[in-house]
Amino acid sequence: MKTALVTGGGRGIGRAICIRLAKEGYYVIVNYVSNETSAQETLAAIKADGGDGETMRFDVSDPVAVRESISAWQSAHPEDYIEVLVNNAGIRKDNLMIWMEDADWQSVLDTNLCGFYNVTKQLLKPMILKKFGRIISVASLSGLKGLPGQVNYSAAKGGLIAATKALAQEVGRKNITVNAVAPGFIVSDMTNGLDEAALKKDIPIGRFGRPEEVAAVVSFLASREASYVTGECISINGGLYC
Ligand code: NAP
Repeated sequence: MKTALVTGGGRGIGRAICIRLAKEGYYVIVNYVSNETSAQETLAAIKADGGDGETMRFDVSDPVAVRESISAWQSAHPEDYIEVLVNNAGIRKDNLMIWMEDADWQSVLDTNLCGFYNVTKQLLKPMILKKFGRIISVASLSGLKGLPGQVNYSAAKGGLIAATKALAQEVGRKNITVNAVAPGFIVSDMTNGLDEAALKKDIPIGRFGRPEEVAAVVSFLASREASYVTGECISINGGLYC
């Protein structure tokens, strides 16, 4: 079976991506950091649909933990390699910059941007050796436009988009595509406290998006059909743009 790894796959957008990729026939590794119950629920949903996978705990911002967990998997599966990586794990800690705590700047950069580096670095070599890979990262409208109160998050997601474009040029000849998606407002724990009734007035489609609508685009980018799309960032925002 082809294998995919989805970071932050236990909840929200990541869960929808895991379920969708499993439907496409992938053995899905569901990464989580703290919420094991949710990750197990994602795995159960995959299995209920006739798919297969496993959970894997690591903190994407911890390079040692990432290396140890992925190396252990690679040693235990010498015949397999992870051909699809979805860098989805993310956090936000919003505040106006004047009030921002140093720790909140750092943790948002560490998870959303350094997480991309830590995990992708581990999986790149096998993809290059096998001459095939798909790397898809979940960025944000905030990384394209910049949003007040999110200087840390906008910086991390903007950096993620730029890193995606740079890496795409490094590995294109190896048949590895590197893309990002930039969701707007999507219903999940991350947007739980937001006032949808007020915010949706600015969204041409008139509502928040669903995780499955992000998963559909990620699934396309992961497919063989998307073989000539690379270095791209696709907005999924119901028409809400700059
Ligand atoms: P969510 O419901 O809060 O889920 C976040 C997921 O990331 C959880 O599964 C969490 O794991 C995982 N995670 C957080 N820190 C991690 C770490 N250090 N290592 C490993 N996993 C970690 O958020 P979501 O809305 O689905 O967001 C998913 C992605 O979409 C994020 O990158 C987010 O920035 C991006 N995004 C979301 C929206 C939106 O409107 N929702 C819009 C644009 C972009 P645990 O379950 O173990 O805590």
